[in-house]
Amino acid sequence: MDVLEKGTKIQEIRCCICHAVITSIEGVYQSPFNYALACKACSSLFTKDDLEMMMSLFFLFGGYFGELGSELFNLEVVLDSIGESIPIDFDDLESINQRVMHVALLHGLGPSDFNRILKGYIESEFED
Ligand SMILES: [Zn+2]
Repeated sequence: MDVLEKGTKIQEIRCCICHAVITSIEGVYQSPFNYALACKACSSLFTKDDLEMMMSLFFLFGGYFGELGSELFNLEVVLDSIGESIPIDFDDLESINQRVMHVALLHGLGPSDFNRILKGYIESEFED
């Protein structure tokens, strides 16, 4: 007897970064830590370190890369609003960084895009 009943739909395997359906194992990255998969496109777009960091943030806080659209990301608004939905320790700079990075990822900004925006923000804050 087959394990799967006729008509049973096998659950789709999705990229844990962008949620694209993974149809081929070619070019796919699998985390050695949690066995999560990143699709070929994400694996070629990001470094392994970035993929691991992004996987961790999506596991912790949910969502996926590009879920909210890039045009809506505003660093000042994000800094003002983090902690509203999920409590945050504002004395913990690392957790603030994680949360802001997570919001950037939801808006489809990769780590290097985000770092460029953050650098511009910091520089503008220190201009007289
Ligand atoms: Zn992907």
